[in-house]
Amino acid sequence: MSDVLEESLVKVLGARTSNSLAKLGLVTVEDLLRHYPRRYGTPGELTDMGALALGEHVTVMAEVRSTTVRQMRSRGGAMLEAIVTDGRDTLQLTFFAKRAGMLRGHEDKLRAGRMGLFTGTVGDYRGRRQLVHPDYLIVGLDAADAEEATVEASRPIPIYPAGASVPTWRIGRSVRTVLDPLTEADVPDPIPQHLRELHHLPTLLEALRGVHVPNDQEHVNRSQRRLKYEEALVLQTALARRRADRESHAAVPRPAVTGGLLDTFDTRLPFTLTAGQIAVGREISADLARPTPMLRLLQGDVGSGKTVVALRAMLAVVDAGGQAALLAPTEVLASQHERTVRDLLGPLAQGEMLGEAQVATRVTLLTGSQGSVRKRQAHADAASGAAGIVVGTHALLSETVQFADLGLVVVDEQHRFGVEQRDQLRARGKSVPHTLVMTATPIPRTVAMTVFGDLETSLLTERPAGRADTVTHVVPAANSAWMSRIWQRMREEVDAGRRAYVVCPRIEGDLPEDDAEPDPEVGDVDTAMLDVADAPVTTARPALGAVVDVANRLRSLPAMAGIDIGIMHGRLTADQKDAAMASFADGSTPILVSTTVIEVGVDVPQASTMVVLDAEHFGVSQLHQLRGRVGRGAQPGLCLLVSHAPPGSSSLERLSAVASTSDGFVLAEKDLELRREGDVLGAAQSGGRNSLRLLRVVRDSQILATARDDARALIDTDPTLETAPALADAIGAWLGEREDYLERT
Ligand code: ADP
Ligand code: MG
Repeated sequence: MSDVLEESLVKVLGARTSNSLAKLGLVTVEDLLRHYPRRYGTPGELTDMGALALGEHVTVMAEVRSTTVRQMRSRGGAMLEAIVTDGRDTLQLTFFAKRAGMLRGHEDKLRAGRMGLFTGTVGDYRGRRQLVHPDYLIVGLDAADAEEATVEASRPIPIYPAGASVPTWRIGRSVRTVLDPLTEADVPDPIPQHLRELHHLPTLLEALRGVHVPNDQEHVNRSQRRLKYEEALVLQTALARRRADRESHAAVPRPAVTGGLLDTFDTRLPFTLTAGQIAVGREISADLARPTPMLRLLQGDVGSGKTVVALRAMLAVVDAGGQAALLAPTEVLASQHERTVRDLLGPLAQGEMLGEAQVATRVTLLTGSQGSVRKRQAHADAASGAAGIVVGTHALLSETVQFADLGLVVVDEQHRFGVEQRDQLRARGKSVPHTLVMTATPIPRTVAMTVFGDLETSLLTERPAGRADTVTHVVPAANSAWMSRIWQRMREEVDAGRRAYVVCPRIEGDLPEDDAEPDPEVGDVDTAMLDVADAPVTTARPALGAVVDVANRLRSLPAMAGIDIGIMHGRLTADQKDAAMASFADGSTPILVSTTVIEVGVDVPQASTMVVLDAEHFGVSQLHQLRGRVGRGAQPGLCLLVSHAPPGSSSLERLSAVASTSDGFVLAEKDLELRREGDVLGAAQSGGRNSLRLLRVVRDSQILATARDDARALIDTDPTLETAPALADAIGAWLGEREDYLERT
């Protein structure tokens, strides 16, 4: 990294200016240069002032219409009033001073007919909007002569993300002080020359000039494109390097074995595998046979049959003499998985009971809340290799759990399988287990490319035949007739031998469901990533549905007479949760009122109906996950999204989107359209130092794709980036700053 860029702003700009810039997080020369303008004011094109909202911090481009200075009789002192206009509306600028003479500077600059940028907080004075002591920049005034003034006046004026303490024009002035003396040698370019030439991109210094001191809009565009590509290249090269690094680790190859557990399993399977399940199975099988660790992301919509795919991979590894671990995000899911796996395997899971000649293995559950006897046995089975398949939560990766020969780790229903977990796996021994990560929240291609660029991905797009679709409706909560019809309908379902979920955002009183899940591993990127647009609803309205209260209310309804109603939430102990799930599954409590604990993976085929209360509080992908819990048998599912969202609101629009399609991939794309670009990566992209600054994953998908290809080619020919030291530096800085961001992938 260049010395000049690393220099502290204190040295260059002095203590006073640098102190105020530090409030924006700008400490070094590079920080300041990378603080790009948010938009540009175009001289001559006046900002529409009709839309100024009281209390807002604004920057407007306007023309001075008149300026008057007068003594204030009442308070003493002097006051300058300037009226500025965008041609239609007017705005008053007000300055106070002890004496009129002190206002002369302003009076001199704010002459009628001059154009300027004015920054301040919109106030109100006798029904008139005003800015008190605004900061301003008069176009043309800084120029040495008329010609330069004309040029100056025709340039786009950068408008910076500013705070009330540092106005945009002061940032602009500081940037120029820093930028003007720089030469190419001071600004090493992370983009290698051959790529810059290939894509006809300006150098970094040229691009910085282009965004901060543009000649015209085209100059801005060209420069921004270059800076976006740079961001994409840094990100993609980091991911490509990680991918290459993984390739450099050794894994035990687990080639397919004929006549083993997998073959037997396939012949016993009560249904035919879908074409997708077969294709993905082949991909995984090829990965497993290689001497480098697999790291594959399997995306499959809810109900697409990922479990079978995972189980087949596990059996292949057991056939090859290794063990497989299946990790679920919660203990409820872990024990459910263990049951599912046992059911699917049938006699093949009776490894401990049959003679040695039989093909069979042992399935062991290992969770934190198990009794010590069972736990000790489970540990022993894992360590001796007696258990071919060990099911548990992420705690399985902790060092205290020993495996005889762990060959495959399957991480279910979770985006998040961070660097930390991967390192944990790596640290386990000389060889790294193969890893399959499964997620049921379809990730739009562009996002996948950004966040999971170092994983190979497989898609399961079709659903097994014979599965009825779930129909989804949005129901206004205020319509009491519909609400009682809902409960009536639930009763009918139960009477027909089926089950229903009622989902609430809270547990009890004002205890939010967010606190419900104590397992820290359950932080899902999908919520952070795909659901951040769900701003909390702040208008006053009835208290949110809470599990305990709703369950009590339902119990008192005549329509529910004689029906036992169960509850489920994250505050229950693991045993209580298991018991609640079991009595729901066996029908003794055919209605289960729950928080989103049931969001992922829970599989009760008789569940036909789901009622989501206060549905606007859930994100699009979360609702899609939730409704995946019903319609899992032959019975078509019904999902009712009960909401207070007013007509025309974006909340209602999102709910309607969920109701309009049951295809998770289509929905993920729709969701992306409905939200602002900046929300896609959540906090990672929305601002601050630790973020992508210009790059937007949807709009700039082409840039991302290009950068990814370039990055992979670059790492292929020069794995250590010896020929691109500035790029290596940029990645280092990026990784340092963005640890959090990558941790979450
Ligand atoms: P998900 O992808 O949501 O995890 P599951 O793996 O739980 O889905 O599968 C959903 C249901 O579909 C399970 O009951 C499973 O046994 C069944 N299933 C899986 N594959 C097929 C198939 N090829 N044909 C019919 N049913 C299948
Ligand atoms: Mg599943």
